[in-house]
Amino acid sequence: MIIVLKPKISKREETAILREIKRLGYRPHLMRGVARTVIGAIGDELSHQTLETLLTTFPETVESVMPIQKRHKLVSREAHPANSTVTVRGQVIGGKKVQIMAGPCSVESEEQLLTTAAAVKAAGATILRGGAFKPRTSPYEFQGLGVKGLKLLAKARAETGLAVITELLSEDHAELVAEYTDIIQIGARNSQNFQLLIAAAKTGKPVLLKRGLSMRIEEWLLAGEYILANDNPNLMFCERGIRTFETYTRNTLDLSTIPIIKKESHAPIVIDPSQGAGRADLVMAMCKGAVAMGADALLIEVHPNPAKALSDAAQQLSLEMFARLMTELKPFIAAAGRE
Ligand code: PEP
Ligand code: MN
Repeated sequence: MIIVLKPKISKREETAILREIKRLGYRPHLMRGVARTVIGAIGDELSHQTLETLLTTFPETVESVMPIQKRHKLVSREAHPANSTVTVRGQVIGGKKVQIMAGPCSVESEEQLLTTAAAVKAAGATILRGGAFKPRTSPYEFQGLGVKGLKLLAKARAETGLAVITELLSEDHAELVAEYTDIIQIGARNSQNFQLLIAAAKTGKPVLLKRGLSMRIEEWLLAGEYILANDNPNLMFCERGIRTFETYTRNTLDLSTIPIIKKESHAPIVIDPSQGAGRADLVMAMCKGAVAMGADALLIEVHPNPAKALSDAAQQLSLEMFARLMTELKPFIAAAGRE
């Protein structure tokens, strides 16, 4: 159920209604908007009639009580009509500015990471990406530097002031990864690993949830629900291409997810054209398309020497290509009414 509160409700009134919702057997999730505060109350659907009594027991506080029709309740626009935003190190994702998250697929060495971090920052990126724990198809391929990689990301953050995003692969590492990163990335291979989603949510760090390789949008929205239902409001969806019959590209980047996620949810939508295309030569065009369609952020792989990269060599941009991309993207960002 959604409980819409009247404007200008005091903290004391808010606390009283939250207590009453809990007493009636529901889990309340308070969402403060600019104009209104709404409470998403999750509980037994069969007895949800009982919450309508709030209208009579709290006539000064409650404006309306409505059922949430969607299966993805807290993630839905019904529950939270305004866009939600995620703020990391002063950078707002889901606001006017299109945020650029850039960096290598994998953290490989101090020199590789620090060189890339300085270059992407100079070109205008605000968030540094880099995998420390890598989900590789083959167990014989580079698995990432692990904790050493996390420490290098922290060093790059200290040197550049960029926020950091890195992937969490295992529940066992949730606290460890959260200690070093500003955003937890949940990879495509894990987006329906529900225990991992819960562990990520419980760290309290913002979570970027990639779409799974064969995930339907409703499944993706429901995976996002795991983050919000575990009391973490800082969720971002990230489209990174799905597996189709096409082999010309590594994946098929589904840009229709931008308007769909915007319609269904209040959470920001991020586009990853690097995994999406699997080819560096297509990244620029896909970034332009994504920005034109309303993407809130882009996640782009950049490497000082892509040909020598230990993972995803074919899709990483060189430092020069990334700088060019940032320049060419500017008019598209402006045309989309963004910064
Ligand atoms: C990555 O970002 O390098 C990555 C492994 O992404 P995905 O989970 O989308 O394949
Ligand atoms: Mn990659």
